[in-house]
Amino acid sequence: MFDPAVGRSLGPGPARCIHCDAPISELRRRLSPVCEAPDCRTHGVLGRLHAVNRREAKHRAEQLAAERDRVLAGLRDAFRDRAAEAERAGTGFLIGVLPANELGVEAVAPDRIELFLERLRGIVVAARSVPVAAASPATEPGEPPLALQRAACGLCRGRCCRSGGNHAYLDEASLARILAAEPSRTEEELFAQYRSFAPSHAYVGACLFQAEDGCALPRELRSDTCNRHLCGELRTLHAEWLASDARELGLGAAADGVLVRTTTLSLPSAMGDTVT
Ligand code: SF4
Ligand code: SF4
Ligand SMILES: [Zn+2]
Repeated sequence: MFDPAVGRSLGPGPARCIHCDAPISELRRRLSPVCEAPDCRTHGVLGRLHAVNRREAKHRAEQLAAERDRVLAGLRDAFRDRAAEAERAGTGFLIGVLPANELGVEAVAPDRIELFLERLRGIVVAARSVPVAAASPATEPGEPPLALQRAACGLCRGRCCRSGGNHAYLDEASLARILAAEPSRTEEELFAQYRSFAPSHAYVGACLFQAEDGCALPRELRSDTCNRHLCGELRTLHAEWLASDARELGLGAAADGVLVRTTTLSLPSAMGDTVT
């Protein structure tokens, strides 16, 4: 197959521009797969960029796979005895790799909670008009059990909360669910609750509710996005757990291929697992 970054089309007959099919000289062919027309030269440049991007993406994927293998090797070492014990006991032992939040914490500027509440006030009317029946549930079937999510996300410390900013992903549908859960609570009472949960310190540049020891909001006050989001690593771990049916797990959180934290976890067998 033709690859504009590495070679030229060398079929039979005179060389032709790969974009407009005009004949090109042998000398031109050695320089480029396209003729000198501006459109064709642009096409040639884009083709080369595309090939470079593809090579870079492939290189990055290989790098990530090598980092993951390195972390897995470290985890196998760290959990060697535990895994052997679990195998002897017939409980099965599964090793999983998760991301790691490596940010530091800083004092939360007081205007952040004000900005958050101002935004909530802006969408509360629209939330009131979302039919309660259409308000989505906080959990879906097929998700990892909460015990697994808590252990995994607790170990990771919320790498995905980096983009929660001053909105914490609260949208009209989430607010509709939250309002419907306690119909006697006034909007101002709800806003006061959010204010009371705002931590004094949060991770640098992350969600205003992301305190050092985890999300400062109770699950029922979090957005549907927060309650439902599962990163790729957690999805992979869940799938591997379902496939392995292990009851003991050894988890590691890694950033840039470096293992930074580990934990172990016992879960009931995935067979017959129910979402809680
Ligand atoms: S979903 Fe993934 S990235 Fe987010 S806290 Fe959990 S383990 Fe970390
Ligand atoms: S509200 Fe909690 S779970 Fe959601 S982004 Fe903020 S810290 Fe993360
Ligand atoms: Zn051409």
